[in-house]
Amino acid sequence: MTPRQLETFKRLLFDRLTETFRGVQHDLRTNAAREPFAQEDPGDEGDSSVHIEHEDLLLRLSERDARIAQAMQEALNRIDRGEFGICLDCGNAIELERLMAVPWALRCADDQQIREQGTQEHAPTL
Ligand SMILES: [Zn+2]
Repeated sequence: MTPRQLETFKRLLFDRLTETFRGVQHDLRTNAAREPFAQEDPGDEGDSSVHIEHEDLLLRLSERDARIAQAMQEALNRIDRGEFGICLDCGNAIELERLMAVPWALRCADDQQIREQGTQEHAPTL
């Protein structure tokens, strides 16, 4: 994958992540106005690494959104580690087409399918 492509995915992930949190962040601010709330660290905005500062934020998302938000954060970390777009199971490159649709995909289409078939019979082990 070229640095340019990585940059594209990074922006894509940041946008989606921001979008996902937009609603709950608004809620947080509303609460902060009503009751004393831990001060938000102004932070350094130039930092490219992503941290979800408040576990709280994740709890406010629906289960599905929280899972995706964590997956997106992990994908951004993988970009920083140079592991983005590499299948966890077989180590081959994940299809670009698949990454465009699901930028946080961890596995190539084949391995994902195998995994999904497997989880129908067995509980997923973490
Ligand atoms: Zn694979």
